Amino acid sequence: MYDLIIRNGTIVDGSGMPRYRGDVGIEGGKIAAIGKIRESARETIDADGHIVSPGLIDAHTHMDAQVFWDALGTCSCWHGVTSVVMGNCGFSLAPCGEKDKLLVMRNLERAEDISPEAMQAGIKWSWTTFAQYLDAVDRLPKGINYAAYMGHSALRTYVMGERAFDEEATTEDLQLMRDELRAGIRAGAIGFTTSRTTNHQTPDGRPVASRIANWDEVRQLVGVMGELGAGIFEIAGEDTGVEGPRLDNYLGRLKSLAVESSVPVTFGMFSSRRAPNYWRRYFETADETAAAGGRMFVQVHSRSLNVLLSFETNMPFDRIPAWREIRRLPLAEQEAALRNPETRRKLVQAANERAPGERAVGAEARGANYNWIFPLDRPTPPYRSIAEIAAAESKDPVDVMIDLALAKNLKKFFMQTLVNENQDHVLEMMKHPRSVVTFSDSGAHVSQIMDSSLQTHVLSHWVREKEALTLEQAIRLLSFVPAYHWGLKGRGLLREGNFADVIIFDPDRINPQLPELTYDLPAGARRLKQKSDGLLATVVNGQVVLRKNEHTGAVPGKLLRGPMAQA
Ligand SMILES: [Zn+2]
Repeated sequence: MYDLIIRNGTIVDGSGMPRYRGDVGIEGGKIAAIGKIRESARETIDADGHIVSPGLIDAHTHMDAQVFWDALGTCSCWHGVTSVVMGNCGFSLAPCGEKDKLLVMRNLERAEDISPEAMQAGIKWSWTTFAQYLDAVDRLPKGINYAAYMGHSALRTYVMGERAFDEEATTEDLQLMRDELRAGIRAGAIGFTTSRTTNHQTPDGRPVASRIANWDEVRQLVGVMGELGAGIFEIAGEDTGVEGPRLDNYLGRLKSLAVESSVPVTFGMFSSRRAPNYWRRYFETADETAAAGGRMFVQVHSRSLNVLLSFETNMPFDRIPAWREIRRLPLAEQEAALRNPETRRKLVQAANERAPGERAVGAEARGANYNWIFPLDRPTPPYRSIAEIAAAESKDPVDVMIDLALAKNLKKFFMQTLVNENQDHVLEMMKHPRSVVTFSDSGAHVSQIMDSSLQTHVLSHWVREKEALTLEQAIRLLSFVPAYHWGLKGRGLLREGNFADVIIFDPDRINPQLPELTYDLPAGARRLKQKSDGLLATVVNGQVVLRKNEHTGAVPGKLLRGPMAQA
């Protein structure tokens, strides 16, 4: 008698090996049998016509705060994800005592667009050290599994207080940081992360704390993991320019760090229309690092990286003085203003004059380039740019955007592409043997981007529509490969004895839905939300958590502790 049998499905097991029909028997949270199962079970799912595969793993999220108010891990869980890694880019909520929580939230607020009101209302602070934070996450009800990095900005702020935002660390500061990092890794932190990018700023335009650190501080902290022989290092990299000595210097430092410390080094990488082959240098460095005895792997996305624009959230015109007054109004009043011909004429004129403004960072809306703004009418490409539509209709592009938005009472999304414009490059990067397809940023940029669907985008766009990847290849990229790199033992493959994280989906229907805006964060804060079609069931540690993406009430997710704390 099994707890659960998934019958008659087509099994794609995560290894990349070809599919086959069979049943999956689950007992005690683990996969007990795969093949033709004659026994019965307390619960059966008929998976006829469906794919049965390992739950997907997203290793680049910022769910550190969200896990306290959203057990399920939305929106990732709605796209087949059953395990996430949080604490990326130097941002974690620990170590930090409650009295200093506003300092840590300052690191997160602008850099990751997480509402401080939501964090204040939604988090019951019960820790100071990272080990205590892990225990707090461990106790929470969870729909999916979570692993957590310790973030440099939090660690630095914990040791240095306000000084973390403008001073170099003293020898004593560094010693205290090393001690807390060592304790955190021993308690089960999966690694350590930092940010050195100018995209990460506080609300008052200052660098987040980790950016003040010199490279020796980074080396010494990564060295703690090297000494312990545990932990992964993730970095939001330096702004080196696209070529030249700064880039060479940075990549040389990254390579030396990986080789000398023996700590795996990972970072996200995009292609860019401004420097189409820039990303290749990073992959070459990963190859060179491996040849020299280190490990380096590159996190890549599955499509172009887009800011979602809308009158309900952010528009490219928001920094233009003539627009500011209007954009502060409730949506209905903005609509009325845009329907007034005289007001509209002035706004269009102002938008075309291009007022200079404060530089946009991170995933904030940029000034408009109409070749790279697209109405979001369907969940996957092709899309037509505003510039193309304007040319075809002989209209001003600003008028095109306003008309499209007014037709939906301003509840209309546009995509503003920042990077990864060239889809041939996107595919080439996904297929690179040192890549891992992950980068949802789930839990962050909550009103700016919505990339929790990058996994269902792979399955719908690249597998079904483009036939550029087989389903076997795609599932491997989204399950086994991240499980391997992050050392998530017993996950990412359907194997007898492995944890029963399983998804069942219709390969002909799996598709992201269009995103929407909701106000469901604590304190009523807003966020973008996106679900998918085609998922029949999501099983975590042997329990059905979602049926057709509706929560069953089960909360079988676990804290996945790093290697030094595994039982
Ligand atoms: Zn990040």
